[in-house]
Amino acid sequence: MRGEPRRQAVTVLGATGSIGTSTLDVIARHPERYRVHALTAHRSREALLAQCRVHRPAVAVLDREADAAWLRARLAEAGLATEVESGTDALVAVAEASAVDVVMAAIVGAAGLLPTLAAVDAGKRVLLANKEALVMSGALFMEAVAKSGATLLPIDSEHNAIYQCLPVDHRGGLARHGVTQLLLTASGGPFRGWSARELAEVTPSQACAHPNWSMGRKISVDSATLMNKGLELIEACWLFDARPEQVQVVVHPQSVIHSMAAYSDGSVIAQLGNPDMRTPIAYGLAWPERIEAGVEALDLFQVARLDFEAPDEAAFPCLRLAREAMAAGGTAPAVLNAANEVAVEAFLEGRLAFTGIAELVARVRDIEPIAPARDLETVLEADAGARRAAREWLARR
Ligand code: NAD
Ligand code: MG
Repeated sequence: MRGEPRRQAVTVLGATGSIGTSTLDVIARHPERYRVHALTAHRSREALLAQCRVHRPAVAVLDREADAAWLRARLAEAGLATEVESGTDALVAVAEASAVDVVMAAIVGAAGLLPTLAAVDAGKRVLLANKEALVMSGALFMEAVAKSGATLLPIDSEHNAIYQCLPVDHRGGLARHGVTQLLLTASGGPFRGWSARELAEVTPSQACAHPNWSMGRKISVDSATLMNKGLELIEACWLFDARPEQVQVVVHPQSVIHSMAAYSDGSVIAQLGNPDMRTPIAYGLAWPERIEAGVEALDLFQVARLDFEAPDEAAFPCLRLAREAMAAGGTAPAVLNAANEVAVEAFLEGRLAFTGIAELVARVRDIEPIAPARDLETVLEADAGARRAAREWLARR
């Protein structure tokens, strides 16, 4: 007789966000397979309390100790045994804890780097949504995966699609497996077809209203500038050992094809589905098996048509800036990412025009020195230096 299989213990970093919430939705559909070890959030303590009531994690983490004390008191009142911690060390601890099997890396931005790397170093199954972590630390991140034997599964829908379109073991470069190109699809964002002049007037609420996906504010702005696609191009190079010129961005407004792999025999393999992040999340959780994700089946008659066009890099220069950063190598992608994070925050706060985002990223790129990304310290220094330069540029204007 076979015993019950052990349930996988999951830590969700960034549990209260768009990806975190979708992850908990999938987990709740499979209580026999998964249990929640830890949930983390930055400021959203009310949302984290609600999640703790439902998912009963062993540990919950907030950024500030004052918020943690508040949550501790509410959980005690409710008679729940969840331990509450605060700060970056606590994030790292729940990512590498020996009780944990799976870590969903769904913090937004550079703040996710240390806990995500901790999960990698500890050899976990790492579900990577936090693309900024990989963009910043590229080679170091992939070396850490190889060294620890961690299982890295991309959650970004495009990379998850490509992963599904490649041979199961695709190590050793694309050419070895007959893959000639990765076709990275892009919705084009809410401003597809707009001129540079029209783009200058864009407001944060317009930028955050994405036509096909409901996402956090930072990635929504990135999708609108096409910096998201630029970060994804860099992400694809690292994940699949591709050169920038092997990754072609294809604007596909319906977001039904999530990306494709082209082979030397002329075959193009695509992954299709409704635009719902629970599909890649369920894939990452269950791989190599498949589980129900709560996603409606794709109705091709309703989709009716699939359109494709080339991206407009003149109106959306962020894509080119990202490609150039990847080609420059070393700390250039970390500088790009940091400048973009500062620019997006300034745009969301009404301190910078939409078109100023690309301008600021380009300025910082021109000022900041690029070094070989030898170790994590070098990467973190490049990140800090680029943030400083970006803030100074904003203040000086
Ligand atoms: P979000 O803003 O909705 O959620 C972010 C989460 O991280 C929240 O739980 C928040 O509390 C936490 N957080 C924010 N700042 C933090 C900090 N400084 N320290 C610790 N925790 C912090 O973002 P999201 O849309 O869920 O995106 C998360 C990541 O997934 C991003 O890297 C994004 O690029 C990537 N991603 C998202 C989608 C999507 O559909 N939303 C798709 C692909 C990739
Ligand atoms: Mg994506």
